[in-house]
Amino acid sequence: MTFKDLNLNTPLYNALDDLGFETPTPIQAESFNVVASGKDVVGIAQTGTGKTYAYMLPILKNLKYSRQENPRVLVLVPTRELVVQVVNEIEKLSKYINNRVLGVYGGTNINTQKQAVAQGLDILVATPGRLYDLAVSRVLQLKSIQKLVIDEVDVMLDLGFRHQLMNIFDILPERRQNIMFSATMTTDVDELITDFFINPTKISIAVSGTPLENITQLRYNVPNFYTKVNLLEDLLADKDTYSRVLIFVAYKRMADRLFDKLEELFPSQTCVIHSNKTQNYRLRSIEQFREGEHRLLVTTDVMARGLDIDDVSHVINFDTPDYPENYMHRIGRTGRAERKGQSILLSTEKEQDSRERIEKLMQMQIGVLEIPEYVEISKELIEEERDVIKERYNPTKRSGDNIPGPAFHEKKEKNQKVNLGGSYRREMAKKYKKPKTRGDKNANRRKKKRR
Ligand code: AMP
Repeated sequence: MTFKDLNLNTPLYNALDDLGFETPTPIQAESFNVVASGKDVVGIAQTGTGKTYAYMLPILKNLKYSRQENPRVLVLVPTRELVVQVVNEIEKLSKYINNRVLGVYGGTNINTQKQAVAQGLDILVATPGRLYDLAVSRVLQLKSIQKLVIDEVDVMLDLGFRHQLMNIFDILPERRQNIMFSATMTTDVDELITDFFINPTKISIAVSGTPLENITQLRYNVPNFYTKVNLLEDLLADKDTYSRVLIFVAYKRMADRLFDKLEELFPSQTCVIHSNKTQNYRLRSIEQFREGEHRLLVTTDVMARGLDIDDVSHVINFDTPDYPENYMHRIGRTGRAERKGQSILLSTEKEQDSRERIEKLMQMQIGVLEIPEYVEISKELIEEERDVIKERYNPTKRSGDNIPGPAFHEKKEKNQKVNLGGSYRREMAKKYKKPKTRGDKNANRRKKKRR
């Protein structure tokens, strides 16, 4: 099958030609007619499968030229990075089409975005929070939205955007086409579909959890953080093989900690992104990595979801994710667009259960490699690895010692007095026969004023 079979139009064919795309990916081939038909659609496809064009090709084909100011297509994505990326993809595809595309996201000046909205637009790409703020401020009118795309729905719900999505549904016209894409089908996603979609057509090109065939997966058993760093030092020293490496960690603190170590070992070759970094810092890091200025990018799971970076040679799972689906998302960053990629998983003793869950989901075993002998096995532990020291045996302690009993001494005499109310001042007043009040404090002041 080629794009010719999809019955597109000349501007789109020309743009695809410029991009060098000849054949539609499976999700594009399957989605085209369904999305074009105007029915509600739910697509299950991982990033890297070409899903952005799976919904954008039919939408752009049917979007007529218009001078009206209000947007007609709304694309919601979970992160700011994705807004930038999707806008970029749409612009590439719209090279020969006269349409207006705008991306809006939080964390930046809303007034600049208000001005941009006021210029008029056809396609709006947004994160839910900022979209809602703009709609509430009435600068943005959503009454002409005909197509709503929600991309990366599973991430959207993971990040707690359900409530915001519902608020948005409330202010959108009822007659619209809903198009939803998710990398995995979770219970949350399923619930959202049942609640808000009208008999959607489901398109799924890979069972969620199927590893992409062009990724070679390997793993190491490594005792602790510092040994993992030592092993990385050894692997990453080979700059030609490890030419563009995404390194995943579970949380922000670990990202910063690993970044500091790698920066020491490989100065000016590493960048980092996580949600505590500023928007500009994050965009700059991704750009530096994408342009090849830096070959190592340390990131948390949420930040890297949906990021489309070409030619990632390796994905390194610095820790073993608790949720096997996260592993699938991580390794999906390499081996994209038919290229070969490699994934490496590092697991400590404690992480073996998670590793088994991943293998169970994939229904395959990941080949295990031995740490080279010359790599130093560190004994040093980081805070999270140190067990709280538990007292196992103490012969001087009797079994009943821990049971709390009554206090072992009586209260001192002065503490036994019961407070019967009444203040010290009143008691003194009684004793020295002083008047109960000193009169109206403000009386003199009032007199002064009158004068
Ligand atoms: P996505 O899954 O939408 O993030 O897309 C992954 C990458 O595949 C993007 O860089 C697209 O530009 C690229 N891509 C999309 N469609 C095709 C196609 N038909 N042939 C080759 N590459 C494509």
